[in-house]
Amino acid sequence: MQFSDLGLERRLMTTVEHLGFTEPTEIQQQAIPAAMQGHDLIASSKTGSGKTLAFIIPALQRVVKNRALSKRDPRVVILTPTRELAKQVFSQLRLFTANTQFKAVLILGGENFNDQVKVLEKEPHFIVATPGRLADHLTQGHFYLNGLELLILDEADRMLDLGFAKQLSQINKAADHRKRQTLLFSATLDHAQVNDFAKELLKKPKRIAIGGAFTEHKDINKRFYLSDNLDHKEALLQHFLTAEKYQQAIIFTATRSDTERLAGILTKQEFNAVALSGELNQSQRNQIMESFSKGQHKILVTTDLASRGLDLVNVSLVINFDMPKHTEEFIHRIGRTGRAGSQGDAIAFVGPKDWLSFKNVEGLLEQTISFEQVDSLKAKFKGLKPKKIKAKSTSSKAKSRVKEQPIKVKKATKKVFHAAQDVGDMPIIKRKKPLSAQQLEDSDLNEAD
Ligand code: AMP
Repeated sequence: MQFSDLGLERRLMTTVEHLGFTEPTEIQQQAIPAAMQGHDLIASSKTGSGKTLAFIIPALQRVVKNRALSKRDPRVVILTPTRELAKQVFSQLRLFTANTQFKAVLILGGENFNDQVKVLEKEPHFIVATPGRLADHLTQGHFYLNGLELLILDEADRMLDLGFAKQLSQINKAADHRKRQTLLFSATLDHAQVNDFAKELLKKPKRIAIGGAFTEHKDINKRFYLSDNLDHKEALLQHFLTAEKYQQAIIFTATRSDTERLAGILTKQEFNAVALSGELNQSQRNQIMESFSKGQHKILVTTDLASRGLDLVNVSLVINFDMPKHTEEFIHRIGRTGRAGSQGDAIAFVGPKDWLSFKNVEGLLEQTISFEQVDSLKAKFKGLKPKKIKAKSTSSKAKSRVKEQPIKVKKATKKVFHAAQDVGDMPIIKRKKPLSAQQLEDSDLNEAD
């Protein structure tokens, strides 16, 4: 199938040609025609598979081809879990709105509220937003959604994991036109809350699952290395950053403080590294992402803040300095490389504190992973033994009943959370009480907005 077979409006087709795309990706081949026929969709596909255009193109087609349902209300709202992802979606959307009369705006947490009120007063046609801030504006009556034609939820699973169910429901209820269409994208469709939510939001949706979001990504070469402790991990890191060939690299750590510390160490070692953490204010975060995507830095050290959705084409190496706390983040982290058909390397260090997380990743990938080693930096750590059940009685009869029990590793398609568990070589600062929506927007503990 070619883009020219999809019957796209002339201006859209011009933009697609301008981008140099001729063939739609698999998710685009399925999602674009179904969405253009007016169906609600619930779709999953691999990270880096062209998902963004799978919803931007039908959104533009609808707006360009159909009369607005209301003169003043936004026509399309796109919600994403993080500010960085929202910005990226917005920049792709702008490529398509640029040669039309339609206005698109970006509404993010952490940015000036009153400036956003002014922007909303100008009655934009498209809004790309993070859900907490958009819900706040809705509550305060800065815009209405009764004429909304298309509601798009990108990475709905992540938005729900971050506790935005209330805001999403509020936005859904406010967008009450009977002709409203909804497209829901999620890394996985096997997520109970996503499915419950889909029942609330979608009308007779078409289900599209391309190859499973968690299937092997053939363009990413994954390698795992055992490590003893923090010093050993740092030595391994220095080794790989020197020995590997890469254009740009992203290093993922378990904690915010680690990002700064590691970037500092790397800078002293004369690597061109920069840290991105949620402790920075939004304009500092923007600046860092911009300079990294322009290639002004070779290495970005971050937490899961940058694990999702970001399309950084020159990243050919991802290093999991610490394994992720939430198992499925592993897929998103390594998906920062191997984008749109290019090759990438993903290296992971597995120390004693990463072990459970590693076993969960092994379960998620449905494969037994073997470790590689660097000859000059061999680890003494060989992995943890499965837990033994403690014998309550010391009688020999009782002892003989005590058998080794394997650590339970949940299956790939199930969500695996062990929120209170520390991973990596630094403790994770635990949250004492649930954060409010605004706190969620301003924090990166959850890496979200
Ligand atoms: P996404 O999954 O939306 O983040 O897209 C991943 C990358 O694929 C981005 O760099 C897109 O510009 C690129 N891309 C999207 N659609 C196509 C296509 N049909 N052909 C080639 N590359 C594409």
